[in-house]
Amino acid sequence: MNLNPAGWRPRFPDADADPNAASGEEPATFTGNRGLQLEEALIFDIGSGDTCGVDLPQPAANAPVRLGGLERRSAIGLPGLSEPETVRHYTRLSRQNYGIDLGLFPLGSCTMKHNPRLNEKIARLPGFADIHPLQPESTIQGALAVMEELSAWLIALTGMHGVALSPKAGAHGELCGVLCIRAALEARGDLREVMLVPESAHGTNPATAAFAGYRVESIPAAADGRIDLAALQARLGPDVAGVMITNPNTCGLYERDLHAIADAVHAAGGFVYCDGANFNAIVGRVRPGDLGVDAMHINLHKTFSTPHGGGGPGSGPVVLSEALAPFAPLPCVTRRADGSLMLVEEESAADHLPQSLGRMSAFHGQMGMFTRALTYILSHGADGLFAASGDAVLNANYVLRSLEDVLDAPFAGSGPCMHEALFSDAGLAPGVSTLDIAKALIDEGFHPMTVYFPLVVHGAMLVEPTETESKAALDQFIAALRSVALRAKAGDPSLCNAPHFAPRTRLDETQAARKPVLVHPGTQAP
Ligand SMILES: *Cc1c(COP(=O)(O)O)cnc(C)c1O
Repeated sequence: MNLNPAGWRPRFPDADADPNAASGEEPATFTGNRGLQLEEALIFDIGSGDTCGVDLPQPAANAPVRLGGLERRSAIGLPGLSEPETVRHYTRLSRQNYGIDLGLFPLGSCTMKHNPRLNEKIARLPGFADIHPLQPESTIQGALAVMEELSAWLIALTGMHGVALSPKAGAHGELCGVLCIRAALEARGDLREVMLVPESAHGTNPATAAFAGYRVESIPAAADGRIDLAALQARLGPDVAGVMITNPNTCGLYERDLHAIADAVHAAGGFVYCDGANFNAIVGRVRPGDLGVDAMHINLHKTFSTPHGGGGPGSGPVVLSEALAPFAPLPCVTRRADGSLMLVEEESAADHLPQSLGRMSAFHGQMGMFTRALTYILSHGADGLFAASGDAVLNANYVLRSLEDVLDAPFAGSGPCMHEALFSDAGLAPGVSTLDIAKALIDEGFHPMTVYFPLVVHGAMLVEPTETESKAALDQFIAALRSVALRAKAGDPSLCNAPHFAPRTRLDETQAARKPVLVHPGTQAP
């Protein structure tokens, strides 16, 4: 029997040795597998460069080459695997991962809610799934109607004037919104240099402003975790293009002064960008347009249940005020006088959107996500969306109030939180950190919460349970986090190298990101 076929290495190279003789502590297995938790080699170790999963005919010796001298002369260096090897490799890896279909996924600011299967069913209808962006318009009227109806819902829910569907994620939507602000200022010959961003902002906000050519200045927070209105007003002036504000903010608090902030910014000639990543807390209850917002992205993959993380892709439509809508990107959907739907592209922009800032992406956006988000919206209806935001806030407050006696909750005195509960590392035993708590949660069978964000709180832990968790699921999570928090306060040394039960234990994450080891030690790099 060949115990070592190509690419497969026993965890214990001496096949005759007793795997348990060496350690004496934890029982080991010959393969390194632990029951159904399979030890999987790297793909470059399994696949050899000269294997191919499909049978392709050899190109004819005299076949004409039409690549103008660009054809590859050396091997491409990809691992070659058969179909079953490929399927098993990725299935085994997927079983080492955590997903929303496995359990509660408390990542704050990410809104990791259940992805309803109805969304998937509708998105897979061939009329949506099998169309091409360059198909004749007359053959995609149904898809355009989905885009139009989704647009109408997003506008109604936000109280805004227009929407650009094409941005591919939240950060891309931010760029779209800030470029609209830039275009509006340029159109009135008013070049401004500064974008104001609160200290608690998501990192994408200052990155977006800088990428769009603005100098970023930060606005301090008041002691209650909200923007310091007086400090903001004092900084406004003719050089300020606008502010980027998240509401509810990243401390999980509602920015009560947003209306006053918007009035002050507008009076100073600037625009208000709202980061809408936390929209799930207020859907159906607050319309950002009523608060004076000029542009806001909506993460369909957060608020409207389309998958994200490994399940991607994202989608970040941007809703725009009357002042910014004329500068929206191409393409967009509009209706002709005869009632048919059309896409406004470069050729037709002069008639429909003459001040458009141009194209943000090659085509129309993430069609599959539009279909899923609209399915979610229609299956909930207005009353269902209203209930969802209420339950998201209720669940977060349940987590906050259930844990504030064992974990420091810096803004618990600022009133109820919105959709996420924020804790700090104050009161943990010396030598125990937020990271240790997060890693210990993995041993308890949960994905960790967001850690070290927002930056305004030391050792932040941000928990967003979302509305899709039952009370039983929340109680189990709270009990697990409570027990880990108590161990952290008591200084339990075993926390410092948790997780103990994961396929891989504590990693040097910086090294792993900067210098990933992509081949098995001792194997030749491809
Ligand atoms: C998720 C998030 C973003 C960025 O959205 P992506 O879709 O990941 O690009 C921006 N701001 C906040 C507050 C977020 O939570």
